[in-house]
Amino acid sequence: MTAGAKRSDENLIFVVQKHAARNLHYDLRLQVGDVLRSWAVPKGPSMEAGTKRLAVAVEDHALDYADFEGVIADGYGAGIVMIWDRGAWCPRGDAAAAHDSGAIAFTLDGQKLKGGFRLVRTRMGGKDKNWLLIKSADGHATSGVDVLDMDRSVVSNLAIDEIPTGKARE
Ligand code: MN
Repeated sequence: MTAGAKRSDENLIFVVQKHAARNLHYDLRLQVGDVLRSWAVPKGPSMEAGTKRLAVAVEDHALDYADFEGVIADGYGAGIVMIWDRGAWCPRGDAAAAHDSGAIAFTLDGQKLKGGFRLVRTRMGGKDKNWLLIKSADGHATSGVDVLDMDRSVVSNLAIDEIPTGKARE
């Protein structure tokens, strides 16, 4: 693929950025068209089938942001951003239509997150920003293992507190 080429719909990207801001959270971003639809997941994703994790819809990001790892010096989101996982995502059906309907069934092919997931908008209390991220029961689901324990960047292999210097501790 040449630089700047539009990415194919057969190769939609996802990224999960661990974000040590005022509150630690994980930003799940799924490519829909030319943007990254984004959710902040306070407790992070789970690979245990059926475990529900709150995922709060936040503003779309540009596709380029999937490559960002580093320090946001100040302003909104100030803190450290790590590329915790990255890969391809595959929606069941049309991604934009699924997003609009408030129920997205999809598979992830990352280094940490794999297999089927669902994102379901809750609508409770009219708070349409709130979705639930749920791992589907499949051969990739695990139990008794916390995927968040794999806590290094899939790009730099750095821990989050090593990202500001860019160097692993001795
Ligand atoms: Mn964030």
